[in-house]
Amino acid sequence: RARLLAMVVPGAVLWWVLLATAAAVSTASIAALLYDLLTFKKYVPPVKRRKGLGHTRYTAAAAAEAQVEGVDVVVIGSGMAGLSCAALLSSFNKRVIVLEQHEVVGGGAHSYAVDGKQKWRFDSGLHYTIPQAGALLAIACGAKESPVKVSRMGVPSAEGNVYDRVQLVGSGDKELRIASDLQMFAEMKRRFPGLSQRLDRFVWVCAGLLWRFPIWCLSALLPHWLRRKLLLSPLFAHWRTWASRTAVDALELLFPGDDKDAALLKSYLSSLWIDTGCPPDRVGFFMLAAVTVGFPHIGGAYPEGGPEAMALSLVEAIESRGGKVFVRALVDKVNIDSHNGVDTATGVTMADGSTISAAAVVSAAGYRTTTSTLLPRAAAARHGLDPSTLPVKQGDGFIMCNIGVTGDHEALGLDCANLWLQPCAAAHGHMLAEGVRKFVDDPLGVDEAQIPMMITIPSSKDRSWHKLHPDSIMIQTLTLAKWEWFSQHLISSNSKPASRTGSRHAPPHTTRKDQAAYDATKKRWGDRIISQVKKAFPKLTDAHIAFVNVSTPLTIENYLPSTSGSAIGLDVTPNRFTDIEAIRRLDMRTGVKNLWLTGQDTLVCGQPLAQLSGMLTALRMLGPLRLAAFAWRVLRFHVIAGGLRYADISTW
Ligand SMILES: Cc1cc2nc3c(=O)[nH]c(=O)nc-3n(C[C@H](O)[C@H](O)[C@H](O)COP(=O)(O)OP(=O)(O)OC[C@H]3O[C@@H](n4cnc5c(N)ncnc54)[C@H](O)[C@@H]3O)c2cc1C
Repeated sequence: RARLLAMVVPGAVLWWVLLATAAAVSTASIAALLYDLLTFKKYVPPVKRRKGLGHTRYTAAAAAEAQVEGVDVVVIGSGMAGLSCAALLSSFNKRVIVLEQHEVVGGGAHSYAVDGKQKWRFDSGLHYTIPQAGALLAIACGAKESPVKVSRMGVPSAEGNVYDRVQLVGSGDKELRIASDLQMFAEMKRRFPGLSQRLDRFVWVCAGLLWRFPIWCLSALLPHWLRRKLLLSPLFAHWRTWASRTAVDALELLFPGDDKDAALLKSYLSSLWIDTGCPPDRVGFFMLAAVTVGFPHIGGAYPEGGPEAMALSLVEAIESRGGKVFVRALVDKVNIDSHNGVDTATGVTMADGSTISAAAVVSAAGYRTTTSTLLPRAAAARHGLDPSTLPVKQGDGFIMCNIGVTGDHEALGLDCANLWLQPCAAAHGHMLAEGVRKFVDDPLGVDEAQIPMMITIPSSKDRSWHKLHPDSIMIQTLTLAKWEWFSQHLISSNSKPASRTGSRHAPPHTTRKDQAAYDATKKRWGDRIISQVKKAFPKLTDAHIAFVNVSTPLTIENYLPSTSGSAIGLDVTPNRFTDIEAIRRLDMRTGVKNLWLTGQDTLVCGQPLAQLSGMLTALRMLGPLRLAAFAWRVLRFHVIAGGLRYADISTW
C-alpha cells in the first residue's frame, strides 16, 4: 500500500498543480478578455484637432512630465506601421509611447512645405492608396468610422472614372486610361485581339495570387513553425509557382515572343511598376499582380487633408488613451539585458543619453535600421538578426521633382488621375523592361523622353485643398533612383546619416559634400523632368511654375533614415514572398525577448500594408484571447454595421 501511495501521490499532486495553474491562467486570461470587452470605449474623433497635436518634442524633462518611465510598450518610429501598432495596443489598455526622430509624425505619410512656402504642400511617401485605408485607420483607432475621409480618385470620362493614365513613350500607341480592371482588360483585348486568350490566363494566374495574399498576410499572426507549414502546404502551391518569379520571367512565360503586340502588352502589364519601387526585371511577380490587377480592381484613393491627416488621427487616438507621441526623439539604441543566456529588451537609450524603460519594445524603424544601428551587434548576431546575411537587399529610392504652380487646375488640364510615362522606344524593341534597364544603366545619358516616371497632382487629389488654396497647384513626379548615383555627396565620410548630427531639421539644411556639384546634378534632373511634364501637359508653361525642388535618395535618407535612401525598405524581390528562410528572418517576433519588429519590411511596402503590419504586430503581442476580442470588435463595428461605408462611392 505504501509503495502504491508513493507512486500515485506525487503524480496526482503534479496533475493537480498543473490543472490548477491552467485553470488560474485561463481564468485570468478570460477575466482580462472580459475586462477589455467591458472597458473598451470606442474612439470618437474630436470635431476640431488639438493645436500642436503631433508636435511634442522629446526632451528628458518632457518625457519625465509625461511619466514615460516603465510604460508597457515603446514604439520606435511614427510611420503608419508604428502608429497603427501603438493605437491598437492603446485600445487594449496598454500604455504606449511612440518616439519619432523627425520633427513631424507620419514617416512616409508626412507632408512638407518646401522652403516654408505653406501654400504648397508635398507628399513624402503616399501618392495614392486604396479606399480601404480608411477602414484600417478606423480599426486601429478603435473607432466606428474612419476619422479621415479617404476618397476614391477618378476623372469622369467615357471609360468610367479614370484614375491612372499610361503612355508608352516611343511606341506610337494611344494612351491607356484605367478606370477599373474590367474596363482595362477589355481595352487591352480590343488593342491586342490575338493575345486575348493569353491575357485571360494572365488574369487567372494573378487572381490565384491575389486571393491567397490576405491569407499570406494573416499568416504573419502565426508562430513561424505553423506559418511555414501553411506556406508549404498544397494551398500555396500556386503561390510558390508564380510568386517565386520576377515580373519579367513570369510575363515571358505567359506571353512568349517579342513581336510588337506581345512587347506592348507586356509593357502595359508592367507599366505601374514604379508603385512597387523595384524595376520589372527584379520585382516579384506578385507585386506586379497587385498593382496591375489588384489596384484597378479596388481603385485608387487619397485622404482628405493629405496623408498626414491619417497619421495625426492615430496620434490623437493614442494620446486620448493615455499614450504619448514624441517628435525629434532619435532613438540611439535598444537596451538589451543579457542574463542566463537570455537576451531581453528592456527599453531604449535616446540620442541625448537619456533612457526609457519599458516592458516591450517595438521597432517600426525598418529592418536594416533596427538590426544595423539600434541593436548591439553581438545580440543581433546571436538571434539571426545580422543584416549582412539577410537574403534580401535594400530597395532603391526615388528622385522626386516637386513643382509649385499657380493657376487653375482645369484651365491647365491638370486632374487627379496619375500619369505614367514609360520608356518604350523602338530601339529597345518596345519593351518597357529593356527601356528601364537602359535608364538604370545610364540615367543621365538616355534621351529624356525615355525617363520612366509617375506624374501626380496632390492639389487635385485632395478634395479639401481647393477651399484653402484655390490657385496653388502642386505637381510631383517620381522616378526610380539608386543610392550610388548620389552617395558621393553624403555629408560624412563614415556614411552615417545626417540625422546623427542632431541639427538636420533646423533650416537651412546641413550642406552636403561638394554641395555645388550636388545642386548642379539636381538641377539637371529637374530640367530633364520638367521638360517631360510640360510635354505631358502642354498648357503648362514656365510662367505658371513658381518653383521647382528636387529630392533624391539622400533626401529620403535625411528625413526617414531608411538605410541607403530606400523608399520601400527591403526590396520586393520574389524571395520576400516565397523563401521560407527570408520569411523567418523577417518575422515580427524576434529572438530577443520582448523585442518586436513591425512595418513594411515585416509584410510588404505600401501605406495600407504598413498599417496592416502594425496591427498584426500588436495582435501578436496581445495574444490569442485578445485576438478574439479584436475580432468581435471588427465584426461589431465594421462588418455588421456595414463595412463599405469607408469608401466614398461617389467619385469626384
Ligand atoms: C517617395 C516615396 C513614395 C511612395 N509612394 C507611395 C504611394 O504612393 N503609396 C503607398 O502606399 N506607398 C508609397 N510609398 C511607400 C510607403 O511610404 C511605405 O511603404 C510606408 O511609409 C512604410 O511605412 P512604415 O511605417 O513601415 O515606415 P516609415 O513610414 O518609413 O516609418 C519609419 C519611421 O521610423 C522613423 N525612424 C527611423 N529611425 C529612427 C530612430 N532611430 N529613432 C526614431 N525614429 C526613427 C522614421 O523617421 C520614420 O518616421 C512611397 C515611399 C516613398 C519614400
